[in-house]
Amino acid sequence: MTNADIAAIFTQIADILEYQGEGIFRVRAYRTAAHAIGSMVESLADIQADVNRFLTDIEGIGTDLAAKIKVLLATGTLPLLEELQAAVPAYVFELMRVPGLGPKKVKLLVEELGVASLDDLERACQTGKVQLLKGFGSKTQAKIVANIAFAKNPAHSRLLWSEADAIVQQLLTYLSTCSEVLQISGAGSWRRGQETVGDIDILVDSNNAQTVMNHLHSWPETTTVLLSGDTKTSVRGPRGMQIDLRVVKTESFGAAMQYFTGSKEHNVRLRSRAREYGLTINEYGVYRLTNHEDGESSEVAIDPSKNCSLAGRTEADLYAAVGLPWIPPELREGRGEILLAHNGQLPHLVELADICGDLHMHTTATDGENTLEEMLRCARQRGLNYIAITDHGQRVTMAHGLNAQRLLDQWGEIDRLNESLAVENDSPLVILKGIEVDMLEKGGLDLPDEVLEQADWVVASLHYGQSQPRQQITARIIEAIENRFVSVIGHPTGRLINRRPAYDVDIEAVIEAAARTGTFLEINANPWRLDLNEYHAFAAKQAGVKIVISTDAHSTHGFEVMRCGILQARRAGLEAKDIVNTRSLNGLRQLLQDRPKAKA
Ligand SMILES: [Zn+2]
Ligand SMILES: [Zn+2]
Repeated sequence: MTNADIAAIFTQIADILEYQGEGIFRVRAYRTAAHAIGSMVESLADIQADVNRFLTDIEGIGTDLAAKIKVLLATGTLPLLEELQAAVPAYVFELMRVPGLGPKKVKLLVEELGVASLDDLERACQTGKVQLLKGFGSKTQAKIVANIAFAKNPAHSRLLWSEADAIVQQLLTYLSTCSEVLQISGAGSWRRGQETVGDIDILVDSNNAQTVMNHLHSWPETTTVLLSGDTKTSVRGPRGMQIDLRVVKTESFGAAMQYFTGSKEHNVRLRSRAREYGLTINEYGVYRLTNHEDGESSEVAIDPSKNCSLAGRTEADLYAAVGLPWIPPELREGRGEILLAHNGQLPHLVELADICGDLHMHTTATDGENTLEEMLRCARQRGLNYIAITDHGQRVTMAHGLNAQRLLDQWGEIDRLNESLAVENDSPLVILKGIEVDMLEKGGLDLPDEVLEQADWVVASLHYGQSQPRQQITARIIEAIENRFVSVIGHPTGRLINRRPAYDVDIEAVIEAAARTGTFLEINANPWRLDLNEYHAFAAKQAGVKIVISTDAHSTHGFEVMRCGILQARRAGLEAKDIVNTRSLNGLRQLLQDRPKAKA
């Protein structure tokens, strides 16, 4: 079981308990634990295996939950979970997948209207019954109709990249213990760093396919063997994920990596380029096309065992055979990358090591789980040169948002911490005085300019009034962009992958305004958000807008998601120079000063 599996189970338990009307404290305990586990880097299995460590050392995990984690790790299930699942009909879970429908709302729909499927719910909305329920209304009803379509889309049941990655890492570690494995790699959409992953592709270089496949079959996480051929097997693993394992020979390993990494669009274009070279590419290697007397060339019946492959050991060889440099997997989407490679214009994609600072995070002053000093200590350990503390402004009452006085007090504390950091000559870390201000529903920000003026860094985000019409939302965001003290727009479209669609915003107008004023746009690296998405981030770069990649960490574990933001930026073709927080602190300050709106 991966951390994500256990977090998902705890979330489900919390949902069912809440559905059953269980007390808020018990529900909250499971939610808090799910959140803590979901954002942890280290696997619970490792902590459990270490005799010197205790699961109860993890924040939010008491003895009861620790015992449950042990059972989950040992057996893959929990008596409580099975009991709860049996007590609640399956359609309840289906209904809870509709964004905005929590356990309480679903309970009303089921009990008052007899809703027992998404189709029932759609009909109940169409006949106007839903809006009559307590706490619903006509707006909510309209939103539910829109969100049913979202829940029905099969793309929204794929795993997040970070969840799939946890499974891939576990699998690679396990398979590497098989002595017949010479080389191993994940491929497919996981390797291309897609936001979500539908199934997992693994490639192994080995001379003994059967042994390797048997090894996968006896993986404790394998629940079902779906298919078992000579060199390919498919199994179901954690969270019902399908895993396809292919075993190839060393001389074909690179060709297979290329082929099974895809995307389909990229491969179609690469194969048509190969034909221009009189070659053909398949998963075994690169072969010369046979020329017939009528001048037609043929790529049928190329038998890898009889024909000599020109390349295929490594991906680089394969690309070189068709006159191209190696193309990073994140760019292989058939969107012009082959032409860029041909012209020697592939971008030098940004890397995790390029990142110097993190400019969006929360502390216990609002809804974070760690104190300012704990965040600071962790940032130092991670080698960051600067961080901005950006707790919520006062509009976010749920998170105990900061009013002007509490914010100024926090900045006083930051001044003191910076002074003490400065005397420790080994520490290059500087804390920036920041805030995540809220764009108010009626327009304007939740803290006055006189306060924002004193900040080093201002993130402006929209958390409320997300269902307002396009024009209104766009106007709120542009107003924030035009505020001269706003540095960056946080999670600019508000979407949560698989959970909530983006709010209706004219992103082109937002990008145009950001370019005009020199306001930055965020790629929020939280794996649920990844907002901006790759298309918007690419469009922003084209318009000359600089991007900030931020973790929005709500705990010290939260820093880890930076790599998800980096992947997102790489898929958008972004280079280090496009990213604000690859700059040194002085470079960052210069960038802020040079913005058109700072000079106006
Ligand atoms: Zn936010
Ligand atoms: Zn935030």
